Amino acid sequence: MSNRLPLLFGLLLALPAHALTPAELPKCPAKTAICIALDLWLPADFSDTDWLRAQLDVANDRLAVVGAGVQVVAVHTLPDAQARVETVAQRTALGDHGQQAPLRWFVVQHLADAADPAAVRKGVTWRQGQQFWVIESQSAMRWVLAHELGHVLGLPHSTEAKSIMNKTPRLWPPPWQIGFTAREQPVQRRTLARLLRAQRLRLARPE
Ligand SMILES: [Zn+2]
Repeated sequence: MSNRLPLLFGLLLALPAHALTPAELPKCPAKTAICIALDLWLPADFSDTDWLRAQLDVANDRLAVVGAGVQVVAVHTLPDAQARVETVAQRTALGDHGQQAPLRWFVVQHLADAADPAAVRKGVTWRQGQQFWVIESQSAMRWVLAHELGHVLGLPHSTEAKSIMNKTPRLWPPPWQIGFTAREQPVQRRTLARLLRAQRLRLARPE
């Protein structure tokens, strides 16, 4: 057993706990059939729980149409050197933290466009082989986590006015009518079932 101690100690060092805990964040609504576990990574000085709550509330509200929700099961501190993400290599390096499941949600101080470093991005679902994780700028609007979870659940961008996957600025419909559409929901349900079966996502609590 003793030879495992350095490994355990190394893991503890690699996964420092943030001052914020999952108990301070919204849980999946009680009626949610499939509660997807999130592994949250935050800059050391990040303390905007209102921002996190808003992201989780919108995600849970919009995912309800496919019987799903999200819930943070662990909070970790991101190393200072990784709090700003400007290059493709830096997006990829985040994947060295944690594992594929639970789904990693990295909140960073700044997220640059991969093709144009001068341009700012609000969120991205980054894929490397069989692995994927969500990277979000701390300046992102409240619906960005829900949009990225659309990508996680197999959706491309959309031209439907009522889709949260449509990135075109528009005056209609109002934000509260924008979500996952009837066309998108079957794709999400299928992808979610496949990812859970393959243990590439996991539940925050037993079904
Ligand atoms: Zn997108």
